[in-house]
Amino acid sequence: TTGALLAQMMVDPIGLILRWYDELQVAQVSLARLVGVREIEPGAGDAEVVPDGRDVRADEVRFGYRAGLDVLHRVSLDVAPGTRLALVGPSGAGKSTLGRLLAGIYAPRTGEVTLGGAELSRMRAEDVRTHVALVNQEHHVFVGSLRDNLLLARTGAEDAELWASLAAVDADGWARGLAEGLDTEVGSGGLALTPAQAQQIALARLVLADPHTLVLDEATSLLDPRAARHLERSLARVLDGRTVVAIAHRLHTAHDADVIAVVEGGRISELGSHDELVTADGAYAALWRSWHG
Ligand code: ATP
Repeated sequence: TTGALLAQMMVDPIGLILRWYDELQVAQVSLARLVGVREIEPGAGDAEVVPDGRDVRADEVRFGYRAGLDVLHRVSLDVAPGTRLALVGPSGAGKSTLGRLLAGIYAPRTGEVTLGGAELSRMRAEDVRTHVALVNQEHHVFVGSLRDNLLLARTGAEDAELWASLAAVDADGWARGLAEGLDTEVGSGGLALTPAQAQQIALARLVLADPHTLVLDEATSLLDPRAARHLERSLARVLDGRTVVAIAHRLHTAHDADVIAVVEGGRISELGSHDELVTADGAYAALWRSWHG
C-alpha cells in the first residue's frame, strides 16, 4: 500500500530505491531469460501476425553470428505438434543455434522460421513467448519474494496457482516449510537456494507460462546425480503433452525421440527415428555404436 511504501521510504529510503532498481532490472532481463524466449526488444513485432496452428517449421534458414560466417546453411525442418524432436551431432555443429532460432530468439539471415504459418521474427516477442519457450540451465532467481519470482511468468496469478505450479515440479515440500511461504525473500541477500531449487523455480515458471512448445537445451548438469534424477522426473512431467525440440548433447536422451535430426557443419545430414537411422547405417548409427562401444 502507499502508506506502507511511504513509511518504508522514511525508514529506509536507499533500501527501497535499490529494491525498485532491482525490480526494474528484473523487468529488463525479462521473460526472455526466465522461461527464455528471444532477446528482441519488447514492443517490437506486429500484433497482427498470429499463428494459425502449432507446427514449427524452418524453411531454408541461413544464420550466422558474424557477417560472412554462416553457422546454419539453408536448414529446413518440420516439427509436428506434440512430437519430440532431438537434435544430435558434434560439438559446434549448430544444434543450440538452431534451437534458438526455432524458439524465435534469433531471426534468420535468410529463410524463415514459422509457427502455425506466422513468421516468428515478425511476431511480437511477448506473443511468441506465450507459445514457445527456451529451457536451459541458466536459471536466474531474482531479488524479491518467491511470489515475485513466480509472478514474472504470469502476472496476476493467484497464490493457489503458484502453489500448484510448485507442486507440479515437486517444490512444494520445501516451499511449504518456509516460515514466510511465498513472501520469503530469495535471490542475493535473501534465502540462499540450492541450484536444484533454483531450477525448480524456473520449471514452476514454465508451468505457469504454459507454452505448447519447448526448446530444451540439455546442457551438462551442474547438479549432483540424485538432485538431477529428481529434477528429471519433474521435467518429464512438464514436457508431457507439449511439442519438444531437445538439444541432446548426450545421445541417450535422443534415442526415444519421435524424430532425430543429425546436425553436422550447420546442415541437417540425417532425419528419422532411432530405428530408421540405425538401419540407414550413417552418421547416427556410427555415433550410436561408438556410444554403446
Ligand atoms: P555444443 O554441442 O558444443 O553446444 P552446438 O552444436 O550446440 O555445440 P552451437 O553452440 O550452435 O553448436 O555453435 C555453432 C557455432 O556457432 C560454433 O562455431 C560456435 O562457436 C558458434 N557460436 C555459438 N554461439 C555463438 C555466439 N553467441 N556468438 C558467436 N558465435 C557463436
